[in-house]
Amino acid sequence: LTATELAAVRADFPLLTRTVRDGKPLVYLDSAATSQKPECVIDAEQDYYLRRNAAVHRGAHALAEEATEAYENARAAVAGLVGIDTDELVWTKNATEGINLVAYAFSNASLGRGGTAAEQFRLGPRDEVVVTEAEHHANLVPWQELCARTGATLRWLGVTDSGRIDTGTLDVIGDRTRVVAFTHVSNVTGAISPVAEVVGAARRAGALVVLDACQSVPHLPVDLRALDVDFAVFSGHKMLGPTGIGALYGRRELLEAMPPFGTGGSMVEVVTMTETTYAAPPQRFEAGTQMVAQTVGLHAAADYLTELGMAAVAAHEAELTAHLLHGIGQIDGVRVLGPTDPADRVGVVAFTVDGVHPHDVGQLLDDAGIAVRVGHHCAQPLHRRLGAQSSARASVGLHTTTAEIDQFCAELARVRQFFLGETVTGGALA
Ligand code: PMP
Repeated sequence: LTATELAAVRADFPLLTRTVRDGKPLVYLDSAATSQKPECVIDAEQDYYLRRNAAVHRGAHALAEEATEAYENARAAVAGLVGIDTDELVWTKNATEGINLVAYAFSNASLGRGGTAAEQFRLGPRDEVVVTEAEHHANLVPWQELCARTGATLRWLGVTDSGRIDTGTLDVIGDRTRVVAFTHVSNVTGAISPVAEVVGAARRAGALVVLDACQSVPHLPVDLRALDVDFAVFSGHKMLGPTGIGALYGRRELLEAMPPFGTGGSMVEVVTMTETTYAAPPQRFEAGTQMVAQTVGLHAAADYLTELGMAAVAAHEAELTAHLLHGIGQIDGVRVLGPTDPADRVGVVAFTVDGVHPHDVGQLLDDAGIAVRVGHHCAQPLHRRLGAQSSARASVGLHTTTAEIDQFCAELARVRQFFLGETVTGGALA
């Protein structure tokens, strides 16, 4: 993005103009947790409530028709952004729900009702589910639970010292593997996974692939069909959209063979007092009144990203990431978790500061108006693997500037001086 384009982008985000902590301009470096929203997203959601609000897929009146159209148009726009067909996108409340929905399909809950196609989701004690040590808890706990319910065994690919999925451990995927679930981009290290290698191993084993695309869809051009995965999930709130809306991609023939997750209204065809036939996907997986306003907001977010172009977003963020890694690299006693080569990662940068607890790091930065996240970022096993209890994490958004990164690095340089009394070059302690 040129300076002019970046200024225009920033002007689209009302929240970025506010100050925090006694008038300090906000430096928002927590987009990996949730993104800020451009005004068009907020407007779209409000406009929906002001002018078009109605329950979708029911009622013959004009508003119901318009609301249904808005809901389905949003599905098409978001599907288009990630290169899939509209009817292969199921709305969920977030990525976590999407993973639970897929895991539930394997829990043998409706075998006997789903016909022979459902057999491919049968899971038993001889079967294995493979994840990685780099997963967000959202892509780990549902698989642990599934294994507990079915007697299947959970196995995992290892992670290298630099936080990448260790392709040397791909032989964990074998004849018994039925599902391989892994993240596209780590929410801790920002590492971009070797998707082709993992998918290749899964294919050779005849296993289904579930991709957690939460941290890739907002930051990189993502074509789910080209990645050749069977399922993928992502969350609206991390990609400039509202909270309360996420998406699950499933290959059509798989969705057709899957049992519903929630049951009730809106997902049925014929209901008698004893039996029910289910609607075709994606409606089968959208039980009850849906989050229409949120889909409309997410539609605006998808349009916003499409208009900027994901390649331009990725290029801008790659510059920021390189600048951030270089800046942190100049500061003594700060260790970055994850790949040091900017080409291997996105702008999600977790780090530890020798001798200083991440919460103290976060608080000092917060005093300067800089928002970062601290803790284990819902990835305890990965932290354990990388030898850290917890970390602080700075993550960029498409509105982030190099000046903000410089300010962050200057404050970070003062952290050890503040807590440990060390002399640090650059910037006197206020
Ligand atoms: N996976 C990854 C990689 C994430 O970063 C997150 C959100 N931190 C999730 C899954 C879960 O997303 P949500 O909380 O929106 O369901």
